[in-house]
Amino acid sequence: MTDQTDYPEEDWLSLSGIQHFSFCRRQWALVHIEQLWEDNVLTTSGSLEHERAHDYDASEKRGDLLILRDLRVFSRRLGVSGACDVVEFRASPDGVALHGRDGLWKAYPVEYKHGQPKTKDADRLQLCAEAMCLEEMLACDIGEGALFYQRTRRREIVEFDETLRHMVEDMFRQMHELYSRGHTPKVRMGRGCKACSLKDVCLPELMKKQSARSYISARLHETSSDGAMSGQGDE
Ligand code: SF4
Repeated sequence: MTDQTDYPEEDWLSLSGIQHFSFCRRQWALVHIEQLWEDNVLTTSGSLEHERAHDYDASEKRGDLLILRDLRVFSRRLGVSGACDVVEFRASPDGVALHGRDGLWKAYPVEYKHGQPKTKDADRLQLCAEAMCLEEMLACDIGEGALFYQRTRRREIVEFDETLRHMVEDMFRQMHELYSRGHTPKVRMGRGCKACSLKDVCLPELMKKQSARSYISARLHETSSDGAMSGQGDE
């Protein structure tokens, strides 16, 4: 763990944003800073501090396996909050106590994905970030978790090694730095741009000249001026 001051709750960022950030820093900023994507899932602040990990409504128990779904998690150290799709808890003498449950339990996060295993680390980073939140909340160590891909119907085991943990810490640090400055990185055209779901709002053709927000605002101004001028001509 790094020696770092905790982030106050009002500064927490969306945990799942690490997927966007690892794909493209600008894509993350468009969603989380400029909020130009209507479907964004920015779930910062809120009052997770009060909910903690005690929302066990969507739980299921099978023998010595306890399955919790949509478990809210946060980390003060990383300054993020979000939710785990599934956390499996196995009864174990090496485990930790859970609120409202007898015995000791070891946590194992599982994230469900629509597609297939990826060569990039986006999914692994998100899962590792979830594990790091759980470790902080439950005061435990979690060595691995799994990604379940709908297309292959298989689990990919992810080991939370030091390299992956450092990547998570470093990315969240960069995200906080950009967020606090309100800075959206300029376009950096890459192979991912073609498939990017935000290319229509990113406007990569601007090529590093101005922010998408200022471009849209200028275009709106132009449109309203055109409208006013054509209105005059019609008279
Ligand atoms: S179009 Fe390219 S530069 Fe723009 S957000 Fe998408 S991946 Fe990033």
